[in-house]
Amino acid sequence: MQRITTKLLQPLDWQERARCHEVEPEIFFPERGGSSKAARSVCSQCTVREECLEYALNNKEQFGIWGGTSERERRRLRRERAMRRLRTAS
Ligand code: SF4
Repeated sequence: MQRITTKLLQPLDWQERARCHEVEPEIFFPERGGSSKAARSVCSQCTVREECLEYALNNKEQFGIWGGTSERERRRLRRERAMRRLRTAS
């Protein structure tokens, strides 16, 4: 059991290279109506941005800036992907 728990708590490989470890985590969770500019700036320099965005999309992360995107942008991306899947399936 301990081995399973330990494995679950291990950061994913890409997370160890995340640029957000270098800054205050609060900037990735701006208040409603607040600016996400600082977080997006950090993300724009991050080498694991794509991995981060895919993780957020696959796990339906609802809060914060992930891969340089807001919650609203991720919802739109998920809708677009779902529509694309439906079109290719029919
Ligand atoms: S893309 Fe942004 S939120 Fe994602 S790991 Fe990089 S710095 Fe962190």
